[in-house]
Amino acid sequence: MGTRIYLDYQASTPVDPRVLEQMLPFFGDIPGNPHSEHAFGWDAQKAVDRANQAIAEELRCDPAEVVFTSGATESNNLAILGVVRRAPPSRKRLLIGAAEHKCVLEAARIAHTHYGMTVEQMPVSSDGSISADTLRSRLGEDVLLVSVMAVNNEIGTLQPLTSLVAASHEFGALFHTDGTHALTAGKVDLCALDCDLFSLSSHKLYGPKGIGALCVRHEIRQRIEPLIYGGGQQMGLRSGTLPVPLCVGFGEAVRLLSEERSRGELSRIGALRDALASKILALNCEFSLNGPRLSNRHPANANICFWGYEASQLLGLLQPALAVSTGSACTSGNIRTSHVLEAIGLSEADANASLRFGVGRYTTESEIGLAVAALSDALMRYV
Ligand code: PMP
Repeated sequence: MGTRIYLDYQASTPVDPRVLEQMLPFFGDIPGNPHSEHAFGWDAQKAVDRANQAIAEELRCDPAEVVFTSGATESNNLAILGVVRRAPPSRKRLLIGAAEHKCVLEAARIAHTHYGMTVEQMPVSSDGSISADTLRSRLGEDVLLVSVMAVNNEIGTLQPLTSLVAASHEFGALFHTDGTHALTAGKVDLCALDCDLFSLSSHKLYGPKGIGALCVRHEIRQRIEPLIYGGGQQMGLRSGTLPVPLCVGFGEAVRLLSEERSRGELSRIGALRDALASKILALNCEFSLNGPRLSNRHPANANICFWGYEASQLLGLLQPALAVSTGSACTSGNIRTSHVLEAIGLSEADANASLRFGVGRYTTESEIGLAVAALSDALMRYV
């Protein structure tokens, strides 16, 4: 079998071996339940505290504000439905971006069908962004929560979060952002941002799958009703025994991310992505970049429309040589057109002709060359 190249880092990242090494003792040697009142439990609790601290340091928030969840899907559900379930009668509107991840759109749908909220989707511009003016024109004293993702998973759009948070707060609305792809795009400072709720996922940043977090600012803790009830762990916000190895891995992954960033990793990744995109676009003058300019999006992301081709057929022809994505990974497998590409104005045909490429920590220059060669070969075999 030939080389297989992975360029789907926005769907999931490999666990960094340094992360795995930190996790392993917690599968065997340190079996304690972090909530137990004995030395084994204390060791486990100490490890969880360290992870908590690492995440809080990276985000510049208080460790007690970091609530572990099973991933960004749960974090987004907890943020939206948690706040909705304690909504004061005077605030019954939710504003969300049209290009949000399905788990935000679905949680908002449930907020409408089960809790009677009015949900409004805010249109995005052709680069996927929402301006503070667009938001302000919809805001009112009856808005409970605004949810706009920090970085889009399909087209890499970076939202102007600072002005969106400020506008929301002018009207007394809470602000939630799905920050799943934010930390791999740059430094996040929750304190400066003044964001109320921030979702994270470990498997998008070289940590294990099955864990994420919701950062809940102290001031709004009382405004969230948990989704999971039980032993009252994590100050009652998310009951359940903490998965110690996963917490440890998540914490280490976040710590390494900031270390890598200070070593210039973002420019290295950006240069690889730029080389990849320009080589692909040079294959055919009818191919075009979807979403924002390369200089203005997540450094690892490129989303390209292969005009006249069917992306899922192209992806099939690329197997097993090259892993990329049609639409977001969570919706591929069903043939629904990407709502993100539709939201930025692509026709159904163009959206279905588009592939997402994501480079990452282990991508090399030679892989970029091989990936483009595989693509060029698949385009020639396409009928
Ligand atoms: N939000 C975004 C922007 C994502 O890309 C994903 C993963 N596809 C999720 C939420 C869901 O994350 P998780 O897999 O951790 O539940």
